Amino acid sequence: MAAPLLGMGRSALEQWAEQHGQAAFRGRQLHDWLYAKGARSLDQVSVLPKAFREQLASQPPEGAADWIGRSRELHRSVARDGTTKLLLGTHDGLSLETVGIPAEGRLTVCVSSQVGCPMACRFCATGKGGLQRSLAVHEIVDQVLCVREVMDQRPSHVVFMGMGEPLLNIEAVLAAIDCLCTDLGMAQRQITVSTVGVARTLPQLAELALQRLGRAQFTLAVSLHAPDQALREQLIPTAHAYPIEALLEDCRRYVALTGRRVSFEYILLGGLNDQPRHAKALAQLLRGFQSHVNLIPYNPIAEEEFQRPAPAAVDAFRRSLQEQHVAVSVRASRGLDADAACGQLRRRLEGSLEPVHSPA
Ligand code: SAH
Repeated sequence: MAAPLLGMGRSALEQWAEQHGQAAFRGRQLHDWLYAKGARSLDQVSVLPKAFREQLASQPPEGAADWIGRSRELHRSVARDGTTKLLLGTHDGLSLETVGIPAEGRLTVCVSSQVGCPMACRFCATGKGGLQRSLAVHEIVDQVLCVREVMDQRPSHVVFMGMGEPLLNIEAVLAAIDCLCTDLGMAQRQITVSTVGVARTLPQLAELALQRLGRAQFTLAVSLHAPDQALREQLIPTAHAYPIEALLEDCRRYVALTGRRVSFEYILLGGLNDQPRHAKALAQLLRGFQSHVNLIPYNPIAEEEFQRPAPAAVDAFRRSLQEQHVAVSVRASRGLDADAACGQLRRRLEGSLEPVHSPA
């Protein structure tokens, strides 16, 4: 049994066509239909001989309902600012979230790398349901195509900040990045991989990226969330297996291997990690490190009682870091009216995953 076609490059598609008794140019036609035209099923690829399509339909691939490998849209939720969250259904009956975020001339797609997540960070809605499975390359690329189709705009940026932990699915994440750049024409620098940290995987990410993609120019974002090990473990239980010093050492090695600076994400939880002493400790921890800190005010989720900090507290934290010469920005909240926090939409709809809204 073979994998579906989405995710394959031009020469792999040419080989695939030849293995199926067709001329190589059929592979190039498929490439055009998969990526430029965004075909959803083989039926739509009318340039292929009908007998060939019928032959393929009788031998479906592994891990998809159809050779193309696209998902079904189960639900769509659009916020006032245009942020569009899609709930997509997989061939095996699971559902995952992907979000399109429009902003002055940009369209960022926030993609999932897994269905669910095993990391169980306390403030994260996705973690509450555990892991179902990792996504295959076609299921990652499909999310970008779905957002392009629904929003009728070419995505300019992709961030792996949806459901799941990308460093537990490195092979598929790198293959998807390769496809987004080679086949959909995106730039590696417009792609961000976000991780909460899994011991021993960061050097592997850098080495495999250099091997498979020839360079590692995408941005690595590390979800730090606390300036010390004790507080970090309170918020991220899995952090006990990966001391903060070891995580930072691996980040330094990553910078050395790739030549790219690392971005640190820091969720601000009112009263817990947003006090002046935390800003001081964070600046101390990152002293001399080629990095950037992105502050994320907490998006409230149903299962936890954490507080979203007041705008003045967010601003004070930002100013304190700046005064200590740390490069810092605050992530603007987008689409708060569309179940903004990662995994929230899926949890709200759990148990009622029949198409709620059927787009035309
Ligand atoms: N597992 C990866 C990527 C998915 S989460 C990681 O942890 O980085 C993407 C980002 O959203 C992370 O920085 C995560 O901490 C943040 N996040 C999760 N739940 C959130 C919430 N309720 N409010 C604000 N940010 C949240």
